[in-house]
Order: sequence, then C-alpha cells, then structure tokens
Amino acid sequence: MTAQRPASVTLVEVGPRDGLQNESRLLSTDTKVEMIRRLAAAGLKRIEAASFVNPTRVPQMADAEAVLARVVGMPGLGVSGLVLNERGFERALAAGLREISFVAVATDAMAARNQGTTARGLVEAWGRLAGRAQAAGLFRSVTIAVAFGCPFEGEVPLARVIEIARALAESGLDEICLADTIGVATPAAVEARFSALAQAVPGLPMRAHFHNTRNTGYANADAALRSGVTVLDASLGGLGGCPFAPGATGNIATEDLAAMLERDRVATGVSLAALTDATRWLEAAMERRLPAHGAHVSPWPAVPAA
Ligand code: MG
Repeated sequence: MTAQRPASVTLVEVGPRDGLQNESRLLSTDTKVEMIRRLAAAGLKRIEAASFVNPTRVPQMADAEAVLARVVGMPGLGVSGLVLNERGFERALAAGLREISFVAVATDAMAARNQGTTARGLVEAWGRLAGRAQAAGLFRSVTIAVAFGCPFEGEVPLARVIEIARALAESGLDEICLADTIGVATPAAVEARFSALAQAVPGLPMRAHFHNTRNTGYANADAALRSGVTVLDASLGGLGGCPFAPGATGNIATEDLAAMLERDRVATGVSLAALTDATRWLEAAMERRLPAHGAHVSPWPAVPAA
C-alpha cells in the first residue's frame, strides 16, 4: 500500500443513476435534470446520469434518454451512462454519450440475476463492445460488480476478480472500477484487492465504488486512495439503497467524502457549500432526510464573528 494519498481525486457523482435507481419515489425528468445541473454547478466534472436498463424492471430509469438529451453537452461536464449489455451500448451511442460505464460481474449468480448471463458471458460481451467503443471515441470505464462480496454466493475470491479484470483489460478499456455493490468491503480487503489489481493491470487508472451499508464506506474510500485509486464514486446526500440489502443506505455521500478529503488537503474541485445546498434541495424533492451529515451540521471551519 502506498501510504500517501494522491494530491487530487476525481469524484464521479452516481446519485442520478445508482442513487435514484434504488429509490422508490419516482422523480420527474425536470427534477433529475435540475439535480444534475446543481451537481455540475458544484464542480462535479463526471456524472453518471442514467442506466440503460429495461424500464419495466427499473421504472426510475424509464426517462434515461430524455434526461440525457438535456444534460449531454453541458459545458465542462462529462456525462456517462451505465451499460449492462449490447442493447444498452446501442442506446448509449444513440444518446450521444462520450463516456460509458460497462458492468461486468464477479459471480455467476449475480450476473444471472442482474444481466441474465454468466460472469464469463459479460467478459465476452465486453470483448465484442470494447473495440466498437474505442472506434466511437468513447471513454471506456468498466466496473466489476460484487467485487468484495455477493448477496447470492457470499465471499468472492480475490483471484476471480483479478482474472476477470485481466480478461476485460485484454479487450481494452480506459479505467477499471471495483464495486462493493452490497457494502461488505473493509479497509484491509480494499487494500488487498486494489494492490493486486494494480499489479495485474499496471498503469490502468483505478476507480472505486462503495456503498455505506455498514458504515465502512468512508474508511474504504481512504484505503482505496492509499492503494492507488484516483477516482471515487459517491452520491449526493448518500442517496439510494441496495436492492439486495433491504433498509440499507446508499453510496457514500459526495459532500461528506469531499469534506473529509478537503480537510486533509486532498483536492476534489467541488464546492462543499454548493453541495450541501443541493442536498437540502434534493431532500425537499424526495420528501425525506438523506443519510449524509454535511447538510445538517455546522460548517467547519466556523465563520469567525465579524
Ligand atoms: Mg452501486
């Protein structure tokens, strides 16, 4: 483990995708677009704005194309969409995206449940898409889901994750992400997996996706940064949940992660004030309090009395 964290970290906002996907309350297209606009204004440069899934399975994403039509091309903003299969890839191309997040899966049981195939089937699907994505000029981020544990198979061997990562990289990609889909990672596991990943695919930028299901998400983010990761996913307000863990909280919260990093002089490029304002706005839209703490505690450092 490299004890030092990088001087700066890229935050990928996944609230409009992973956050909303796990919320039962449906938001209007206008509200989703406003959420993305506020996030971009707060300094987020990469936003995962939608998922190309079957709308009968995930009603929250039924307006994916309508949302993307209004946010792709926002100045200074990189918009991506989650691609689960070849049909999703075609939709990403048609939507004019310049970046995609393809989802591979570490276990057969999760691959069957999520994408109707096997772990190997998804590696092969990426083999058919990687070259086309490159030819189209897309930035190709690939995630390995349930990389730290699977709700159906339990513990996931590190060797299997590394084998999948190598196979995906052979087809070509620009960034690899390990996702703790159900929030069971720990700092030691994060260190072990990303250290092994860095050796397996040297030079490839590494990204991490954590859920705060058991309140280990921020410790895991810190461990990831000390293990060579330079890109972290987070969701505004800690929005979301987990379809396989009833009652679970969502991703680590963008504002709480950014506050931790900025206190330690790790640059994120985001405005904490703008993010907490955005969370208060989103809480009003969702009509519930979100898990993040930043919007509900006093700003720090405190503003000195005049
Ligand atoms: Mg997730």
